[in-house]
Amino acid sequence: MKTEVFIAGGGVGGLALAAKLASRGVHVTIAEQLKSKSNAYKGELLQPKTLAILDRLGVLDEIEASGHVIDQLRFHEINIRPNDAPEPLQLTELNYSRVASRYDHALMVPHERTKDILREKGKEYEEFFHYLPGARFLGFEGGMAQVRHQKKIFHIKAQVYIGAEGRTSPTRDAMNVSVKRKDYNHHFLTVTIPRPETFTKGKIITTTGSFLGLFPLPNNEIRTVYLIKAGEFKKIKEKGLEHLYRAYGELEPELAETVKSLDDWRQIQLMIPYTYHVDRYYSGNLALIGDAAHTVHPMAGEGMNLAIQDADVLGELLAWCKEEGKPYHENLHYYEDVRKPRVSFLLTLSHMSALVYSFPNPWWRKLRMRAVQRIYDDDQLHVKQMLNISGLGRWNFSLVDRAIQGSVLPVRSKQISDDKQHQKLFSEAEDYPWRFEQKGKV
Ligand SMILES: Cc1cc2nc3c(=O)[nH]c(=O)nc-3n(C[C@H](O)[C@H](O)[C@H](O)COP(=O)(O)OP(=O)(O)OC[C@H]3O[C@@H](n4cnc5c(N)ncnc54)[C@H](O)[C@@H]3O)c2cc1C
Repeated sequence: MKTEVFIAGGGVGGLALAAKLASRGVHVTIAEQLKSKSNAYKGELLQPKTLAILDRLGVLDEIEASGHVIDQLRFHEINIRPNDAPEPLQLTELNYSRVASRYDHALMVPHERTKDILREKGKEYEEFFHYLPGARFLGFEGGMAQVRHQKKIFHIKAQVYIGAEGRTSPTRDAMNVSVKRKDYNHHFLTVTIPRPETFTKGKIITTTGSFLGLFPLPNNEIRTVYLIKAGEFKKIKEKGLEHLYRAYGELEPELAETVKSLDDWRQIQLMIPYTYHVDRYYSGNLALIGDAAHTVHPMAGEGMNLAIQDADVLGELLAWCKEEGKPYHENLHYYEDVRKPRVSFLLTLSHMSALVYSFPNPWWRKLRMRAVQRIYDDDQLHVKQMLNISGLGRWNFSLVDRAIQGSVLPVRSKQISDDKQHQKLFSEAEDYPWRFEQKGKV
């Protein structure tokens, strides 16, 4: 079998890439090992840059119709009081509207729904989009992809091979890149439960020693993320579901009843955060996207976004190669040039956010509360934080910023203008530099 681009893995990254390539007249074949939908929890928060990419792909209306708008990140610090409502200590609201863009919110969309929408988009270009469910990519043999489908093994010859298999990636193994894994002192329990109709705002609720992230989904559901110590899952299970009902109820009384809809530990998924970042994104005519290349701590809600953003840049590059008659393998470096520094930056940002919630000490909490509130109080910090996590641009934090956040320097009174911010948004030349360099424009 022959194709132009072979993609191993039909997750969000692989599907976004395939839909883009097919829409631009590039023959693409995706081997996805699963035959049907997965029940595993995965990323659901789509950040503004991802919404912009989905808009260009022509699926934003459907995505918006399937999502719940998150216009703020809300950080609640509370004290738990036995047999009483929690004592509120501090509420900080960071607003996506501080980002000077028409994509001024994030969206919670069920993971499988996002995949369905991307797959359906690809199918609109049936001449170019070849999706093989239940087909497991095994590795390379004779310069071709070896795939097992219905107990038969066959080979696919392509001009470019993309590893989009997620954390376990035979393509990455074949590229022989280095992967250094970093672990954390905490794990998460994650599960979707019903929510009252009026519970529409996402929030992160913390005490000195607990953390509960709540992110509303459509259809009166809510995705919950509860932090536990690394290795504590077995002990918590032994305490029974009652323990979880009590913990959720104490932190968020509004969910005290709906959490009781959980009646089996199998509904709850253990999420073990860790990070890695490969040293190379391509080698010859092989390239990696999404979790095959990098995994971020889930605290900043970036993993799925990075996968779709990788797919956008690589898809544009490969489509351009075909349109301009340029060899694919000679131009893959552009993909790494654009994406690797951006991913490194967001890996660091997510890691810092994780550290903020990693130490259950009263003094650490005090520092955290002050630092989070200062992001809101200082408009430049507020804009930088939201712009950076939105993916729409990059504005590095300076030493002065960090000193203000740490209360060493006072908050600045100046408001950041939209014009100033526009200089920090990624331009087309920064997203897709090959188009400009080759015309001698940059
Ligand atoms: C519990 C959990 C919560 C998360 N929450 C968030 C969040 O809120 N926000 C966020 O942005 N990110 C989140 N993430 C991360 C996010 O889900 C991933 O970063 C994202 O799914 C990566 O997309 P991907 O396409 O690279 O890989 P995946 O989504 O892992 O897709 C890989 C696909 O490849 C297939 N595959 C694997 N091996 C083979 C093979 N050999 N042959 C053929 N097919 C293969 C798999 O079946 C899968 O369909 C979360 C992850 C988890 C696990």
